[in-house]
Amino acid sequence: GEQPINEVTTDLLIIGAGPGGYVAAIYAAKKGLDVTLIEKEDTLGGTCLNVGCIPTKALVKSAEICDNVKNSSLFGIESDSDLKINMKQIIDRKDEVVNQLVSGVSFLMEKNKIRVIQGTASFLSDNKVIVNGKDTSHISAKDTIIATGSKISHVNIPGVELPFVMNSTDALALTELPNSITIIGGGVIGMEFACIYRNLGVEVHVLEFMDHVLDILDDDLCEEIERLSEQKGIHIHTQAKVTKIQQANNGQAIITYETDGKEQLLVSEKVLVAIGREPNIDGLNLEEIKIRMDEARNGIAVNQKMQTNIKNIYAIGDVTNIIQLAHVASHQGIHAVNNILGEESDMDYSAVPNVIFTSPEIATVGLQEYECKDKKLDYRVSKVSFSSNGKALTMNEPDGFIKLIKDNKTSEIIGGSIIGPDASSLISSLTIAITNGLTEQQITKTIFAHPTTAEVIHEAGFDLNIGALHEA
Ligand code: FAD
Repeated sequence: GEQPINEVTTDLLIIGAGPGGYVAAIYAAKKGLDVTLIEKEDTLGGTCLNVGCIPTKALVKSAEICDNVKNSSLFGIESDSDLKINMKQIIDRKDEVVNQLVSGVSFLMEKNKIRVIQGTASFLSDNKVIVNGKDTSHISAKDTIIATGSKISHVNIPGVELPFVMNSTDALALTELPNSITIIGGGVIGMEFACIYRNLGVEVHVLEFMDHVLDILDDDLCEEIERLSEQKGIHIHTQAKVTKIQQANNGQAIITYETDGKEQLLVSEKVLVAIGREPNIDGLNLEEIKIRMDEARNGIAVNQKMQTNIKNIYAIGDVTNIIQLAHVASHQGIHAVNNILGEESDMDYSAVPNVIFTSPEIATVGLQEYECKDKKLDYRVSKVSFSSNGKALTMNEPDGFIKLIKDNKTSEIIGGSIIGPDASSLISSLTIAITNGLTEQQITKTIFAHPTTAEVIHEAGFDLNIGALHEA
């Protein structure tokens, strides 16, 4: 017979349970709102928990351990047995971490009395949504937050449908380690996978269309990661335009690309396409309610309050395509909820940390040097390398550097970049500094523990004034 339709009335409807949506849900529930969260997948946590941030970092850890074991004799640790890589076990462990976090999110939803409905949401009007899942529901909401995230962009390279071509989600499920892989796209995801596979001993080629991999960074950072990657044995090909992928008689992939107008070939067992993600607005029926898109950015258009052109509908996270990072999505969600509650709350992007989990790690916050140049700011840059940092030497990780930028007029730190050991953790101190307008003097008067990699921050502070103490 006909399925009954559940009728639900709620204060706040959130579509999508990624780090944007589920964090907004918890925050709103803690602030006293009745919250309904819709998720089309069977598990909560979105891209980040299921096929993004978390699973990749689980693989990064396994790969680093592999690399450490290979180099253990440098530290005086020798083992006679052969190194064995059990890729199935690596993927299983990754899944366990993901499952643990995903059930943690479900638990938090229950604890905060958030109504979770499985299904795909589609707008019927400004304040009514239909959800098609195991059941059908009609949801009437005072306010709605769209947090539907992003999906893997489709590429038009002939041959992408061949069986050995993977995207990042496929790679996260690959239980057999290939001998060789060609990665198309030297962005964040491409370079993280390049390091994962290389640390596991795979022959890795990266094909990047631009002049540098991780092209969003200052040139000195790109050049340092390129140098260190090549040193690890990752083959990087820049200004390389992939034109087709074919299958050789022996089943291997043949990748054709153009550099300087010359055609080149690469042969490998697998191909990973990592060329980007785009907003996920499929099935939302946004045309019906006339939600405006930002054409230039190719995302849902929002103001600083995360409000769309329709007063009671907000959008946060990857679907806005402002910055594709989990913590940005979460933060935007908190601002959206504040505004829904009538507390004026503007999103500010001037101190967003960005971490790239390559080996070594890269992390930036605030302005890059090229942005200071473009803005014609009066600034000063300091650069201190890890090679004079005691802790880095004990770790046998002397490569990389920190770069700090101050505004000459105010002495405030306006940008920071780190490539080297612990960069992902060190960036937090710089984020606190920039968020709170701390000056170079406030950095130098802070006491940093010895011996720690954080001391490079102290040194870079001095370098903005009298010069680093431990550099000639
Ligand atoms: P998502 O996490 O994409 O969640 C959106 C949710 O909405 C999904 O669960 C989707 O199923 C659901 N949905 C979509 N449409 C509907 C609908 N109509 N009805 C119901 N539900 C719907 N970011 C970092 O900050 N650090 C990292 O280290 C990092 N690593 C990454 C590695 C990889 C391989 C990838 C792919 C991404 C990585 N990211 C990382 C990016 C990060 O995952 C995203 O920025 C983040 O997940 C965006 O959060 P979101 O809530 O906007 O969307």
